[in-house]
Amino acid sequence: MVRTIIITLLFTSNIIAQIKINSYQQLSPVQPKTIIDSLFLQVQRPDKDTLRTFNSHYRIAACTRPDAKAFINDKQTKVYASGAFVELLHINVDTNTFRFTVKSPAGDSLWKEFVIIRPAPMKNSPHDTLVIEQAMMEPAEDMWLASGDILEVKFKGSPGWETSFDIPDVESGIPMRELSPGEGGGFAGVYIGRYAVKPKDEARDVQIKFHLKKSFWTSEKKTSKAKISILSKEMPRVAEVIGKRPYLNAGLGEDRLGGSKLGFLQEGIRVEITGKSGSQYRVRLSPSMEAWLPEEFAKLLPPDTPLPRALAGAISAAGNNSEDIVTLTLSEKLPYSSEQLVNPNAITVDVYGATSNTNWISQPRSAKGIESITWRQVAADQYRIIIGLLHPHWGYDIDYAGHSLRIKIRRPPVIPSPDSLLSGLVIAVDAGHGGDNNGSIGATGVLEKDMNISMAYYLDSLLSEKGVKVVLMRTEYDTPAMSERIENILRSNARLLVSIHCNSAGEASDPLALRGVSTYYRSPGFKPLADIMYDNMLAIGLKPFGEVGSFNFTLNSLTQLPNVLVETAFLSNPDDEMLLLDDGFRKKAAEQILKGLEEFVRIYSEMK
Ligand SMILES: [Zn+2]
Repeated sequence: MVRTIIITLLFTSNIIAQIKINSYQQLSPVQPKTIIDSLFLQVQRPDKDTLRTFNSHYRIAACTRPDAKAFINDKQTKVYASGAFVELLHINVDTNTFRFTVKSPAGDSLWKEFVIIRPAPMKNSPHDTLVIEQAMMEPAEDMWLASGDILEVKFKGSPGWETSFDIPDVESGIPMRELSPGEGGGFAGVYIGRYAVKPKDEARDVQIKFHLKKSFWTSEKKTSKAKISILSKEMPRVAEVIGKRPYLNAGLGEDRLGGSKLGFLQEGIRVEITGKSGSQYRVRLSPSMEAWLPEEFAKLLPPDTPLPRALAGAISAAGNNSEDIVTLTLSEKLPYSSEQLVNPNAITVDVYGATSNTNWISQPRSAKGIESITWRQVAADQYRIIIGLLHPHWGYDIDYAGHSLRIKIRRPPVIPSPDSLLSGLVIAVDAGHGGDNNGSIGATGVLEKDMNISMAYYLDSLLSEKGVKVVLMRTEYDTPAMSERIENILRSNARLLVSIHCNSAGEASDPLALRGVSTYYRSPGFKPLADIMYDNMLAIGLKPFGEVGSFNFTLNSLTQLPNVLVETAFLSNPDDEMLLLDDGFRKKAAEQILKGLEEFVRIYSEMK
């Protein structure tokens, strides 16, 4: 009898849990795993039977029944209470076979086998049989060059011989020299050569010819896949910036989220093109500064188009209820970049191609948030406006009205009462990924996108209770692209933005070593929000993973409002995954984000 009651109670609470989960089913695929299930083995990583990697390690993630034992090639591995098991496998050069086996207490077992192939690393080329390899050849991508540029070429081949290269239509037999193995990435037989482009050189889509010579009778030739063009006077030098949210890259570097950006531009701005590498145009900003414009943002103008240059005229400022607007008169839409400075708070805007003719800076009293406006000619063709602020950074936007450059600076919101800090504010909440984009995956198969939206929904309801107008970037049903999310944020007039994600270890990183919370910002003026968010998340016992500035996440690039990315915990770590799987934890995380927003507003806004 007693026993029956207990079973009934358990059963009932289970149903309640089930109902709760079902009402949440669209948001989260988390299902309670009961021991009654038959033995199973589900492998998330590797996600195919055979894969290749160049890394010496590979992170696996799988799950089984929590009471089962798990083995990888007969070596037992820990099964967590969620059923998850993870490992960082060592991968030998060549073919590695891994058998994942799970065994139930009753003695049933299941297994799956995976093959991971690690190709042999590159070796030195043979000395006697002449070889020029394609692998390390440079240029690796098509390039446009102009007079004064240095073309550097490189190849790896048989060590110890005489080498040279030709630029067809320009020059032949340019000698190359062999690097020491220390300079050549550990290899013998890496040769480099250089050519300084002369004013009269001209070439269109030519391929570099490399020569490796052992004797008069024995030599080897190879042609670069990449093509070189040397800009003549007839080639376009000016481009108009086109497309949605165009930007300039600071260099040609790449990473997972794209290269480091110098800043965003507007359609219709004209830039001077001095070269091209791969799919990016080189843009001259000033005599000492260049940047790179992805070709999808450039419309080349006819060769005789005047170079984008203008005189910078008068500066004026005016304020309205929520922002101050600084306007610079220019006769053409020139490219610019901007920066937030802290201690003291200021915004600087560099306008490229501009020369000062500023003899007038009107500073009406209505521009309440501005302490000072000054200008400086930093270099030929680089004109800087420096705007000192009387308040913390709450965002700014730059655009053109006709040919006049406008810098719109937001003042902190005015809070009616310390008891209702967020009431009336518009706050944007972004749940990372969505739709076909799952984000990362936990060992139990749980998807990041579902965890993110679950936390975003909790935050939405908490904020709504506080009288906030929440702008959700997505629901579980729709997945707007990043550009749409940005438009939505800017259109909504949101004063704060929080992006919610879950972190994951990389393919070759230890899933047990990496865990905990991290927060991210890009502009230094928005660091305080990331600081506060980090502290609030640590307060619920999350491990400290760290705080990251200058981060290249698209939504962190917005200058228009204080924004923060919260990577709540690591889905790749089984302990963190169990936290995330817990509905109570997700709610708690949302509560901490709410507290963080309140704290930020309490410290950095203005009280009536
Ligand atoms: Zn993510």
